[in-house]
Amino acid sequence: MTSPHRPVPHPGPAAGPGVGPAFDAVPALDGELRFDSAALDAASTDFGRLVHEPPAAVLRAGSAEDVATMVRHCRERGLKVAPRGQGHSTNGQAQVPSGLVIDLGSLDSVEFRDDTAIVQAGALWSSVVRASLPRGLTPPAFTDYLELSVGGTLSAGGLGGQIGHHGTQADNVLELQVVTGEGEIATCSPTVRPDLFRAALGGLGQCAIITRATLSLIPAPRSVRLYTLTFRSVTELTARQAELIGEGRFDYLVGQALPAPDGWTYMMEAASYDGTADADARLTDDLGAASVEAQDVPYFDFVNRLAATVEALTAMGEWTRPHPWYDSLLPASTVDTVVTDTLARLEPEAVGASAVILLYPVLTAKCRTPLPVMPDEEIAYLFSLLKTASPGADSADEMVVANRRQYDTTVEAGGCWYPIGSVPLTKDDWVRHFGRFWDEFEAARHRYDPDGVLTPGQRIF
Ligand SMILES: Cc1cc2nc3c(=O)[nH]c(=O)nc-3n(C[C@H](O)[C@H](O)[C@H](O)COP(=O)(O)OP(=O)(O)OC[C@H]3O[C@@H](n4cnc5c(N)ncnc54)[C@H](O)[C@@H]3O)c2cc1C
Repeated sequence: MTSPHRPVPHPGPAAGPGVGPAFDAVPALDGELRFDSAALDAASTDFGRLVHEPPAAVLRAGSAEDVATMVRHCRERGLKVAPRGQGHSTNGQAQVPSGLVIDLGSLDSVEFRDDTAIVQAGALWSSVVRASLPRGLTPPAFTDYLELSVGGTLSAGGLGGQIGHHGTQADNVLELQVVTGEGEIATCSPTVRPDLFRAALGGLGQCAIITRATLSLIPAPRSVRLYTLTFRSVTELTARQAELIGEGRFDYLVGQALPAPDGWTYMMEAASYDGTADADARLTDDLGAASVEAQDVPYFDFVNRLAATVEALTAMGEWTRPHPWYDSLLPASTVDTVVTDTLARLEPEAVGASAVILLYPVLTAKCRTPLPVMPDEEIAYLFSLLKTASPGADSADEMVVANRRQYDTTVEAGGCWYPIGSVPLTKDDWVRHFGRFWDEFEAARHRYDPDGVLTPGQRIF
């Protein structure tokens, strides 16, 4: 499908040095097909720095039509295609050896219609919220880090502290424009081609490349009353989180395990939008926390508060080290046991100088899209071991081996992994992972990407 309003096209590349026969006779494109080492090097690494697979070419997409044209071109020539947002994967998920990486970063427009944002897939969440706030609106759900692409987090799901009220980021999508593995530009929504919509959201790029999303927005708070509370045991933390997310007392609720001189301490962050100090006692006095601190933060600074940490980690050199991350979702019935056992065995120094251990409550009923897969209980917990292979820590390879052990523990405990991390999985693992959704997902893959062109870096099919 070709838009009648396309800008003056670039000519396709002539065959020449670096342009293999696979990319001869490429139709005219709005964007640019690159074969230079800078483009290939950038596309053959990611935030994890564990996998390095150079593609044959990189498309800097200029339009959805470009994406469709090149998917068709690659399909005809038996080449694989990997869409790429910001490359913040940790295990080569956006890479494709000797294939085509489609860099969606230049498809980054953000427009508004009433209380929705119509956003190209390469737009960053930071750009979306910066543009929506002057209209008094905000996306309801965020990831912790805003410099991720809309297409990248929607293809994973997008979990964050607002999940108790608004579900995942994928739950707040009204419509998608995608390019299927056959190179068709399609629109899908809960009522139009719902099978494609369900398989694209949280679908890890297996059935289609998201090129545009219509996002629901809500009125934005001006400021946030942010509480930081500490608890002495994991049981106290998870019990309070379960109560609070169930009753919806706070607009935002997360947690972390932090190393302490005598083991571990447990932190909860809870936020009340447009909250004031008058409500402090009512909101926190009955929680039994060992300590409570409160502060007022402007709303944008609140959703963007990882930015300062990233700056510090970059200055320390930690941001560019290997990141063998592990992310899981555990049911409430086993979370305390798994977390306690895991932390009892874990030496804080072994997981890196800047490691972070997350424990976020999830109200599974709010997560209405079938993907990402959730444990089969009312309350679940995102348990993440965000490791960095710092000097003096375990090696990146050792961390990956430990991730696989943690994965097996997770599955035995009735949990599942949140598929953004670094865990070697087999086909059987994936079938078990998708569970009751596997048959529908596999059927969608065969229907929309019958030749298996898309996103091999996830290693599912
Ligand atoms: C610092 C940091 C903080 C994070 N915090 C959170 C968090 O709080 N919550 C959370 O849920 N996740 C979090 N993540 C994980 C993150 O959401 C995923 O890794 C996400 O996929 C990264 O987005 P990206 O634009 O970098 O995608 P990429 O790494 O470029 O791509 C990720 C995968 O999606 C595919 N893909 C990319 N774009 C598209 C598209 N348009 N259509 C279809 N498939 C596509 C790629 O091929 C690849 O398989 C975090 C990651 C980092 C590095």
